[in-house]
Amino acid sequence: VSFDVELTAATVLFGAGRLNELGAVLDRAAISRGVLIDGLAHPGAVARIERLMGGAHVLTLDRVRPHVPADEARRAREQVRGAGADGLVAVGGGSATGLAKAVALTEDLPIVAIPTTYAGSEMTPIWGMTEGERKTTGRDVRVLPRAVVYDPQLTYSLPAAATAATGMNAIAHCVEALWTAQASPFSDALAEEGMRLLAAGLPAAVADRGSRAARIDCLQGAWLAGMALAAAGTALHHRLCHALGGFGLPHAEVHAAVLPAVVELFAPAAPRAMARIARALGAADAAAGLRELATALGTTATLADMGLTAEQAGTVARLTADAAPTVPRPVDAADVLRVLAAAGAPT
Ligand code: NAD
Repeated sequence: VSFDVELTAATVLFGAGRLNELGAVLDRAAISRGVLIDGLAHPGAVARIERLMGGAHVLTLDRVRPHVPADEARRAREQVRGAGADGLVAVGGGSATGLAKAVALTEDLPIVAIPTTYAGSEMTPIWGMTEGERKTTGRDVRVLPRAVVYDPQLTYSLPAAATAATGMNAIAHCVEALWTAQASPFSDALAEEGMRLLAAGLPAAVADRGSRAARIDCLQGAWLAGMALAAAGTALHHRLCHALGGFGLPHAEVHAAVLPAVVELFAPAAPRAMARIARALGAADAAAGLRELATALGTTATLADMGLTAEQAGTVARLTADAAPTVPRPVDAADVLRVLAAAGAPT
């Protein structure tokens, strides 16, 4: 047994109404000229955050795009420099946190994150940027938010589809954390409890987006899922979803379709992970439990429904099998094709 764990240094505030403590959070992070990065696109909430930042608010940037286009990152860096900022406040999902990270990477500024989806980026030192079609990612402790405010009240407005989609993304972080090379008892515990909370909360949050108890469960689960991702990293599933994303398939729906198929592939090689997944979902079988959850959340589109062609599936299989992660066991293009077929790709 051998693993490294980088413990995240962030201060976490969790609870309904905790957003009201933002001023004190900024003080503790020594931010007196903060730029707000708004990926929430909800005028009322953003105006409230600007008010809560008070004199520590100098500018709001709202050009938040998926996957952090490099030219948007360059523009944001210039604006942040121009404003003489000494810190960043990101509100929204992984796209807002991602833009803040891209700025922090070069400007060396602290981030306070206020996550409003379940993507989990706020707990990781992983950044990503897209130049044209190519996405580059890296790890750098400078992009890890200094403080994170999880206020479930901000998630009531998250639509059912985005709740289901970002929730399945968080479940995927937990599942893969169980079998990466860096998996440890620490990440196992985070992943299993994260999955349990998400599975408990997501169906109710999708059915009634204002359900207080469900939103609390989901956001706590997303926090742990983000920590599991930071501690253990990812493997084949995320690699595959990334490659499928290259054909313009919807990121989160892809996660929901592919995850049970990857779990089925690895079931014989990772029995302990399977037991944890089944236990967290309250199911007899890990893959069946994930399919049931996806059905309950309405994320049942197959890869064919999303427009993947047989030729594209072949390309994805080749690309992914090339230098694929070797945990929990090595895979070849035929394995990947089997996964894609089980996720409903045309053959
Ligand atoms: P997102 O940030 O793009 O948000 C999706 C949509 O939901 C946006 O239109 C946003 O305005 C809206 N939204 C967000 N919160 C809302 C709320 N409470 N109410 C109403 N609308 C709301 O999507 P995401 O899935 O959160 O993030 C995806 C991005 O994050 C991807 O680029 C992915 O690669 C990245 N990511 C990075 C990491 C990491 O560790 N670096 C981890 C997970 C995801």
